[in-house]
Amino acid sequence: MIGYNAVRVAVDPAAVARNFVRLRSHGCDLVAVVKADAYGHGLVPVAKAIAQAGGRRFAVGTVAEGVSLRQALPTAQIIALLGAMDMDDARACQRWGIVPVATHWEHWTLMEAAAEEGNGPCAAIILKFDTGMGRLGFAPHEAAALGRRLRETPSLRAVAVFSHLATADVPDDADFVAEQVGCLRAILADLAAAGLSLPASLANSAGLLAHPSTHFDLQRPGIALYGANPLASTAWEDRCPPLEAAMQVDAPILQVHEVPAGASVSYGRTFRAPRPMRLAVVAVGYADAYSRGLSNRAAMVVGGRRAPVVGRVCMQMTVVDVTDIPGVRPGDRAYLLGGPGAAAITATELAAWWGTIPYEVFCLLGLNPRVLV
Ligand SMILES: *Cc1c(COP(=O)(O)O)cnc(C)c1O
Repeated sequence: MIGYNAVRVAVDPAAVARNFVRLRSHGCDLVAVVKADAYGHGLVPVAKAIAQAGGRRFAVGTVAEGVSLRQALPTAQIIALLGAMDMDDARACQRWGIVPVATHWEHWTLMEAAAEEGNGPCAAIILKFDTGMGRLGFAPHEAAALGRRLRETPSLRAVAVFSHLATADVPDDADFVAEQVGCLRAILADLAAAGLSLPASLANSAGLLAHPSTHFDLQRPGIALYGANPLASTAWEDRCPPLEAAMQVDAPILQVHEVPAGASVSYGRTFRAPRPMRLAVVAVGYADAYSRGLSNRAAMVVGGRRAPVVGRVCMQMTVVDVTDIPGVRPGDRAYLLGGPGAAAITATELAAWWGTIPYEVFCLLGLNPRVLV
């Protein structure tokens, strides 16, 4: 969390819940991905709102994140995508009923040890396979051996099979999606041959919206819940239904002043006023995760209109051009994300200025102090 600043992140958990309901009409059974503090939106309020809308399954990152969510949602299925990293994690999974994703044999050993030590009910795990992401997971050829090991390990109970898509949001790479689907089908067949028939999950937001072949039994949307179209600026952009933004970020204006033509602004003098201008200094900078890469590129919303960023973003201040916006005064709020009316800045737009994706915009700006609306 970033403290000691005047940046305000306003989150509307009900908007996330409404996006959940819209997305549910595309899939069948959704696992709401709320890892990384619900993509910077706030884990507990967001997950509670989704639960109120009927959500029963949640995916967090770490086991500790799952334990925090367990207190708020006593009966939901909570899945830890990063798995149990050590014995403490494995014990916490047992104690709090968190389902860790097992991605390699050491995970397996940890969970088995915790289950036997706890002497409680058998521990639920999810088997994760790498079908092409090149990151976490058992290799596809290990499926048969895993099936056999499970039969010999009564303390562990597999409840699902997961894999993750690498290119679902890239129309030109649809062939690779098909390859991953084929690979997961082969894994499921191997497990079935070993007597194990489990619900499967492959789709992220883009898979859910653009690739019905990836739906299997459970779908795992993240970014779309938070209102960003994972297919934005691609040929498939309109496969995403209209979604609502749930995060707005603003900061107060510290000072407003006039400068003559030719005046320079901020470090390095990278901006020179082409005409007499009125400039507003906003209390947000790269220390508040408003990237310096936004210098001379981004805009904010002031008084319902777009105010371009001029000059370099500083540590805790950024200057915007309010020449054409009448009546701007110190204390007015400038929106760096969202804002009132048609001028609102979308996460996709801010991400493009920033040279990144909405995921990173949400996670980083969400580190600032949040208020619920
Ligand atoms: C983050 C994540 C998701 C959600 O992906 P989005 O692109 O945000 O929909 C799904 N599954 C796994 C394993 C993830 O890590």
